[in-house]
Amino acid sequence: MPNNKSTIYRGRFAPSPTGSVHFGTLVAAVGSYLQAKANHGEWLIRIEDVDTTRTIDGSDKEILKTLEAFGFEWDGEIIDQSQQTEHYQQALESLMAQSLIFPCTCSRKQLAETNSKIYPGTCRSNKLPVSDEHALRLLTHDITIEFDDIVMGEQSQNIKQECGDFVIKRRDKLFAYQLAVVVDDARQNITEIVRGADLLDSTQRQIYLQQLLGYPTPAYCHLPLAVDSDENKISKSEGTSKIDIKNREKQLCDVLKFLGQLPPADLSASTINDIWSWAITHWDITRVPTKTHIQPVLSQK
Ligand SMILES: [Zn+2]
Repeated sequence: MPNNKSTIYRGRFAPSPTGSVHFGTLVAAVGSYLQAKANHGEWLIRIEDVDTTRTIDGSDKEILKTLEAFGFEWDGEIIDQSQQTEHYQQALESLMAQSLIFPCTCSRKQLAETNSKIYPGTCRSNKLPVSDEHALRLLTHDITIEFDDIVMGEQSQNIKQECGDFVIKRRDKLFAYQLAVVVDDARQNITEIVRGADLLDSTQRQIYLQQLLGYPTPAYCHLPLAVDSDENKISKSEGTSKIDIKNREKQLCDVLKFLGQLPPADLSASTINDIWSWAITHWDITRVPTKTHIQPVLSQK
């Protein structure tokens, strides 16, 4: 069980080691870092490699090296999700003990044929154990979960109608991200989660899990997602948005502007330490745009 009596602000940055650092990664890192520093809190790093099928070897080290080059300073030990399996298993057992877990033997093809992103509940009455290959899903109830996002405002979702019974442990035996992130945030006593708006719609599922597992619910703060001209998330493979530490001062100022801050025009000519000190002193979360998708304006390299 998490020891949840932390009164200090504690934030985190949780990158997936699936490629190089790009502009969007830096936005989440900078936003969570400034929010922690401005609140005189701690800032932790977690490597979200629970989906080992997507992990790229060496990517975690490259991300950390880039963060170091930008002058980020983190607190405590860095944890890897791939090393936390026993804790995810404990959480799963707690859900099983509440009769909230059922085995789903639907194939990917069968699920695709339902033409819906929402699981139709086909296997709800299945009981464990089953010998066929299966995923483990969480029974959802017809309840609405609401939260007030610090940037994006009031959010509301009916967990059964808008999400459906979601996967906790995948067919390939990997724990699902939704469970891993909830367990990790509780174990690390995270008090506020600052991350990209691509996870805004996952938040209710995570709050639902927190409630079932008896964990506290942290505050949430979703930042606009950096997108290309077609409104697609800027991908790590796109050269233009890849972070180059040679231009770190300009790139840090680009991120500050993207987050609605107003750095003076000549700030990018300062040292990285001076830019950080300006950014921490002047950080104003209420200036962060409330749009979920924004195309960034990047300085010429
Ligand atoms: Zn099923």
